[in-house]
Amino acid sequence: MSTICAISTPNAVGGISVIRISGVDAVKIAEKIFIPFSKKPVSQMSGHTCAYGKVVFDGRTIDDALLTVFLAPKSYTGENVAEISCHGGIFVTKEVLRACIASGAEPAEPGEFTKRAFLNGKLSLTQAEAVMDVISAGGKQALNSANLAHEGLLFKKIKNTADDLVNILAELAAWVDYPEEDLPAVKDESLTSSLKTAISQLNKILCDYDNGLIFREGIDTAIVGRANVGKSSLMNMLLGFDRSIVTDIAGTTRDVIEESARLGEIILKLSDTAGIRQTDDIVESMGVDLAMKKLKNARLIITVFDCSEELTSEDKKLLEEIKDKQCIIILNKSDLKQKIHAEDFSIYKKPVISLSAREQKGKENLENAIISLFKLDNLNSDTTVFTNERQKNCVEKAKNCLEIALNALSIGETLDAVTVTVSKACDFLLELTGEKATEAVVDQVFHNFCVGK
Ligand code: GDP
Repeated sequence: MSTICAISTPNAVGGISVIRISGVDAVKIAEKIFIPFSKKPVSQMSGHTCAYGKVVFDGRTIDDALLTVFLAPKSYTGENVAEISCHGGIFVTKEVLRACIASGAEPAEPGEFTKRAFLNGKLSLTQAEAVMDVISAGGKQALNSANLAHEGLLFKKIKNTADDLVNILAELAAWVDYPEEDLPAVKDESLTSSLKTAISQLNKILCDYDNGLIFREGIDTAIVGRANVGKSSLMNMLLGFDRSIVTDIAGTTRDVIEESARLGEIILKLSDTAGIRQTDDIVESMGVDLAMKKLKNARLIITVFDCSEELTSEDKKLLEEIKDKQCIIILNKSDLKQKIHAEDFSIYKKPVISLSAREQKGKENLENAIISLFKLDNLNSDTTVFTNERQKNCVEKAKNCLEIALNALSIGETLDAVTVTVSKACDFLLELTGEKATEAVVDQVFHNFCVGK
């Protein structure tokens, strides 16, 4: 396998940059361009040691730098690795990379270091994917989960279920050899219950997937309400800066304005929409149409009312529109004299909170309402590992196979048929962990990585 190199730090100016070289010739290549001030040859450096020196190429000093050497198999990739930490300028970093390439290293593909770690048995496929999740984690929950997956918790969970399936297959194999004999009732029961247990374990993982999306990508949220109730003010309060124009002229927000806001651990992907009302203004009515579309697709609707005014017919119409959605009702302008109260909304069975966007009061109430609406407080950050789309698909396919197997067993189909589908389910789980993943699957996983990781 070739020796590869890449810049492992962002393509931006910083304090330091790291250029990583991995492969059989990593140390040899580093020796060509790095001269330690101690004069001890690079080739004699032990693993996990560091030297201070200069990077020289074509007789020209590029930079002072540190060289860290890791010897196979004790490195991230399992191969020899040399890492040059130089000053963090974009040009100087690229010069060091160019020197590595000119000295015999090949530019690495995206994710190739981690792919080699996987191929060398340093990481399972799920652990490798977790590396990417650790990098992209935007909050504590997401990071906790990524770290758990990185430590191998998801691998273990899936492996346990896969092992259970192997046991079921062994039991089935014992009976398939005696086709003329009926499966005794007690065997039948134990197989059924083992399949049901495996299905419920997989269901739990699928359930956590939805929560994972919330922490990783945020909740698609639409702020709706008639004109002038304070939607833009609320959006600005949540964002912590003025993004939407606040005026008391109805119909000023004509477009859908989108931004992400962080509320504690939760990320809201907010859309402030045009006030929903009948209008003859063409531009405003296009905004109202967009608002209606957002309202249909969003996962969370924040419906704003002006508590200093009686409910209008438009307000009531909006309440009808959202009655089947996950929704939080906000009584805004709580700093003014209240004419409507939480009780007035009791028939809609939605959480109601009071706040004042103008005085920036009530943000925590909204956060708590979202946490309880999406049942996020039940998540145990020590045991919950969120899966990505690929992993979810594998779990879903495995679960479908098991349901088919369970059905086959209940209607008395041949044990052969049951065995085939349980065995398929097992394969999907092993594809998830990478133990039985095709090259195409592995390539796809690492395709999403950044260069240098
Ligand atoms: P939108 O049309 O629903 O986006 O409403 P805006 O955010 O533009 O606000 C309409 C008017 O209500 C503006 O004059 C705001 O200053 C005012 N407003 C918004 N929130 C509050 C609040 O909490 N208290 C009071 N007293 N006025 C508010």
